[in-house]
Amino acid sequence: MVVEVNTEGHSAARRSELAVNLAALDERLRAAESAAGRAAGSVELVAVTKKWPATDVELLAELGVRHIGENRQQEAEAKFAEVVATGLVWHFIGQLQTNKAKHVARFADQVDTVDRTALVRALAKGAVAADRRIGVLVQVSLDPDPDPARGGVAPAQAVELADAVAAEDALNLLGVMGVAPLGGDARVAFGRLAEIAGQVQDRHPDATQISAGMSHDLEQAIAAGATHVRVGTALLGTRPPLG
Ligand SMILES: *Cc1c(COP(=O)(O)O)cnc(C)c1O
Repeated sequence: MVVEVNTEGHSAARRSELAVNLAALDERLRAAESAAGRAAGSVELVAVTKKWPATDVELLAELGVRHIGENRQQEAEAKFAEVVATGLVWHFIGQLQTNKAKHVARFADQVDTVDRTALVRALAKGAVAADRRIGVLVQVSLDPDPDPARGGVAPAQAVELADAVAAEDALNLLGVMGVAPLGGDARVAFGRLAEIAGQVQDRHPDATQISAGMSHDLEQAIAAGATHVRVGTALLGTRPPLG
């Protein structure tokens, strides 16, 4: 790439932009935690860096962000290879084709969008081949009419899918994930997700993660019990229309 010009200056400006956004986001998180009667700092931020360069991941790591979310296999794999910061937790949060699972299994610490048994098996196989153990969230569809493009298992099948994940030695069932329906009531949807999380935890007590909420609805998610919020725009800005 030909963007080596004035990297230092650019990176200093970007660093302060990210620092300002992160401070504002932290305030939102603390306010939402407090409003929900939850401990300050109890909600984890997953910074969604899709479409942003690896240098942004580095800057966020310097600013203390630990969880990174990516939604496309090729982009994520390339970025992971480029980033030198260590100690990051890489989340895959996109719709994942079964034949791409082995690639994701090489770099993702957890896959938050597992919504079918074929994917459970493919990921387990990939994890074994990579000699890794991968965390998994069961993505539950919160849409009134499940939409294959948005992903997610039907709520009635979530527990069964969680059982399938837990049965794989190479996978570590961590909890559930959901995306609020477009134009729907996020509070109701996230309440539903929390109920399903409870059903999963009844059988798998260590599966405590609830990943819900993005830039525009993280308050509703935290009110409903989210342990992780996935934030892109509010932290990094409006995504560039690349790739
Ligand atoms: C892009 C994305 C996000 C972040 O969305 P923003 O509105 O930019 O905060 C969260 N979750 C998933 C699954 C995404 O694909």
